[in-house]
Amino acid sequence: MSKIAMRTPLVEMDGDEMTRIMWQMIKDDLILPFVDLKTEYYDLGLRHRDETDDRVTVESAEATKRLGVAVKCATITANAARQEEYGLKKLWKSPNGTIRAMLDGTCFRAPIPVKGIEPVVRTWKRPITIARHAYGDVYRNAEIRVPGAGKAELVFTAADGTETRETIHEFSGPGVIQGIHNLDDSIATFARSCFEFALEKRQDLWFATKDTISKTYDGRFKAIFQQMYDAEYRPRFEAAGITYFYTLIDDAVARVMRSEGGFIWACKNYDGDVMSDMLSSAFGSLAMMTSVLVCPNNVYEYEAAHGTVQRHYYKHLRGEETSTNSVATIFAWSGALRKRGELDGLPELVRFADALEHATIATIESGRMTGDLARITTLPNPVKLNTEEFILAIADELRGELASA
Ligand code: NAP
Ligand code: MG
Repeated sequence: MSKIAMRTPLVEMDGDEMTRIMWQMIKDDLILPFVDLKTEYYDLGLRHRDETDDRVTVESAEATKRLGVAVKCATITANAARQEEYGLKKLWKSPNGTIRAMLDGTCFRAPIPVKGIEPVVRTWKRPITIARHAYGDVYRNAEIRVPGAGKAELVFTAADGTETRETIHEFSGPGVIQGIHNLDDSIATFARSCFEFALEKRQDLWFATKDTISKTYDGRFKAIFQQMYDAEYRPRFEAAGITYFYTLIDDAVARVMRSEGGFIWACKNYDGDVMSDMLSSAFGSLAMMTSVLVCPNNVYEYEAAHGTVQRHYYKHLRGEETSTNSVATIFAWSGALRKRGELDGLPELVRFADALEHATIATIESGRMTGDLARITTLPNPVKLNTEEFILAIADELRGELASA
C-alpha cells in the first residue's frame, strides 16, 4: 500500500509526560505507516521551553499563522513544584495561554459519542459543543495583593492623555485586587466564529454572561453578539431553521442540565474552561472530547482538552503498566490531518482522518478500551487494555478499515 501524500506540513507541537509518550505511539503506529507525514516540529516539552526561554512556544504560534494548521500535545503549565522538579529558570507562562493570545479565536470542544459510554445526565441525547472564547479576562489579568489600608482605583489614560477614573474600593485592611480586559475586535471574532460554526453544524447557538451584574463588561459581550446577529446572521439562521438564544450564565447552566443536547454553547473564557471539564466528565471522560482553536484567517489548532496525565506518567517511569486513554490526542491528529486535506484539496487525506476516527470508535464499541472507560461502560465484559495495547488494537482496526475502502 503506498502512503498518502501531503502537500503543506502540519505544525507539530510536542508536549510533556504521558501525553508525550502517547504522541510518539500514535505517530509510530497510527499515522506513519499510512501517511507520508509532513510536519514542522516544535518541542514544547517543558525542558525545551526552559532552554529556549520559551521562544519555541512563540515560534510555534508564528508557524501556525504561516502554515494554517497545528496539532498540539498537552503541556505542563509551570508552577512552583514544577520549577523545583525541572530546575526551571523561571515560571514560564501557560503555553496554551501564549498560543491563544497570539492566535486569538475560539476554542470548540465537543464530546466524542461512543455506544456504551452513556452521559451521566439522563436527558442528554446529543453532544453539546462548548465554544470557549480564547482571549483575555482572568487569563490576561493584572493582580495586586493589597497590604493594608488604601484606595484602589481603575484608571484609563487615553492616547491624548485624558483620564477616566473609577473607585474600586477604599480598603481599611489587607485584601486583593485584579484588573482584566477584553477587546471589541476579539469579542467580534469570537461571535463570528460561533455564528459560522452554528450554521456549519446546523445547531442552535446559546450564549450566556452575567450582564445583570457586570453591566459594562459582560454587557459589551452581549451587545456585540446581538448587533452582529441582527445585522448579518438572523436571516441565515432562520433559513437554516436554527436559533440564537441569549440568557444569563446561571440560567444557562440550569437549562443545559434539563436539555436534550445537540447545540453549541458559547462561553466566555473562564466559563468555557470550567464548563468544558464538567461537560466532558459528564459525557464520559476528559479523554473523550475534541478541542480545536478556530482563529481568524483560516487558522486552526487541534489539541486534547485534558492535561499531561502526570499520575500515569510517574507509574510509567516506575515501570508499572498504564492504561491511559489516547482518544482525544488521536482526534487532535485526525482533526488536523482532515483540515489539512480539506485546505490542500487532498481527499485521500480526509478519508484517512475519517477512517482513523471510525477505527478508534469501533475499537471501543467492540469492548476493547482503556481503564477510564472500562470502569463506566454499559457494554458487557469490557476488556481493559494498557496504553500501548489500545493504540495497537486501533491500528489493527484501521488496517482493516483502509483495506476494505
Ligand atoms: P490531567 O492530566 O487532565 O489529569 C487529571 C486526571 O484525569 C488524571 O490523573 C486521570 O485520572 C484523568 N485523566 C485525564 N486525562 C486522561 C486520559 N487521557 N486517560 C485516562 N485518564 C485521564 O490533569 P493534571 O494531572 O491535573 O495535570 C497534569 C499537567 O497537565 C499539569 O502540569 C497541567 O499544567 C497540565 N495541563 C495541560 C493542559 C493542556 O496542555 N491542554 C490542560 C490541563 C492541564 P486518574 O489519575 O484517576 O486515572
Ligand atoms: Mg481547564
